[in-house]
Amino acid sequence: MLPELYDLIIIGAGPAGLATAYLCHKSGLSYLVLESGKSSFQGIANTYPQGKLVYASKPKEAPEPFLVDELRPPDKPVTVESYLQYIQHFVQHENLNIRNEVTFESIVDERDGLTVLTDKGRFKGKKVVLAFGSSIPRELSVYGDAKMVAKNLDDPSKFVGVKTLVIGGGNTAADVVIAILKAKREQNDNQPVYWAHQSERFDVNKETAQRLGEEILLGGNIRLLPGATPRIGEVDDEQVDRLSIRINEFKQADGIDLYHALSFPMQNVIACIGSQGPVPIFDKLGIQTISCTAGVCKVAQDGDRLVLLTTDFESTRKGVYVVGGAISPSYMKISEGMIQEEKHPNLIYTAINDAYHLVEAIKKRLGK
Ligand SMILES: Cc1cc2nc3c(=O)[nH]c(=O)nc-3n(C[C@H](O)[C@H](O)[C@H](O)COP(=O)(O)OP(=O)(O)OC[C@H]3O[C@@H](n4cnc5c(N)ncnc54)[C@H](O)[C@@H]3O)c2cc1C
Repeated sequence: MLPELYDLIIIGAGPAGLATAYLCHKSGLSYLVLESGKSSFQGIANTYPQGKLVYASKPKEAPEPFLVDELRPPDKPVTVESYLQYIQHFVQHENLNIRNEVTFESIVDERDGLTVLTDKGRFKGKKVVLAFGSSIPRELSVYGDAKMVAKNLDDPSKFVGVKTLVIGGGNTAADVVIAILKAKREQNDNQPVYWAHQSERFDVNKETAQRLGEEILLGGNIRLLPGATPRIGEVDDEQVDRLSIRINEFKQADGIDLYHALSFPMQNVIACIGSQGPVPIFDKLGIQTISCTAGVCKVAQDGDRLVLLTTDFESTRKGVYVVGGAISPSYMKISEGMIQEEKHPNLIYTAINDAYHLVEAIKKRLGK
């Protein structure tokens, strides 16, 4: 069966993607949002500290008000938890067409539109809007496939009763280890949490180290694996996706090296190995960027690569648009034959207002 052809496929359900979806919904454009997280605004849920207040910040020089009032944070700041709760109600109430837990991978040009490739299959749109924000979790680089490995922890209780592997040497990984140890302790589960890092030293701040120490003193069963490198993603004889991680290596004089590795079911693995900006994705998609050289850019630094966009946010790849945090803090704007750096603060305001201008432009293009 041929996949449905949507007017727009939107990648990411953050403020930019959700505002785009809502405006499509109101103006009768067909659309589908693909979000890698468990629910809308996953990027915000993952990055804001607990209890953080959300501000309706607007750059001083910006002439426009918030153009999608329904998604605007309240003037009197509320905690991120209550803003997220409001957003989930809004998505349900408006019945927006969002598929969660679908990770965007690539785009293929077709005669009648664009096919979007994801880890859950293909989707087709006349236009594609990239609204995946500014921080994209890094993938593990191993031989084979490691896509089943989670990049954040949504429910520590899922790991009670299983041996778990957390990869990464910083505060985020430490926080995941602490949360799982705590969940296990509360359920009297003595199965260990393995904590691996490819360097010999873990690097966490004092406050995190104290919380971790406390969890260990309360009985947390943790096995540290410094100098361990994830090597292979494979499917075993029972069709279970597994990740092998090499924990030590002994060079032999005869040239045959000996090493030890542990193999974990991928569903028991969480990799917190940092995030990257969107430039590698633009490269992969063949979207043009321009490097800032001395004196050319005011916001970006020398050597930064900025994505090239029209005034309607269309990239150099026809039919592919980019909005929101993905183009912050600045991009190169093509306007009336000129290319100039355009300031683009990374705010909910800019993300929402990009969506408004984008949908207006696409409505005209599609004659709706
Ligand atoms: C700690 C912190 C505090 C902040 N506080 C404020 C504030 O008070 N007020 C304010 O205005 N701004 C604030 N900001 C900035 C604001 O959160 C961002 O400007 C805004 O979230 C950008 O929206 P976005 O939709 O472009 O990106 P995001 O919010 O990052 O949303 C992108 C979405 O795309 C999804 N995604 C990513 N990759 C893929 C993929 N491959 N496939 C499918 N989906 C994918 C993500 O899961 C995410 O849900 C803050 C930022 C941080 C980090």
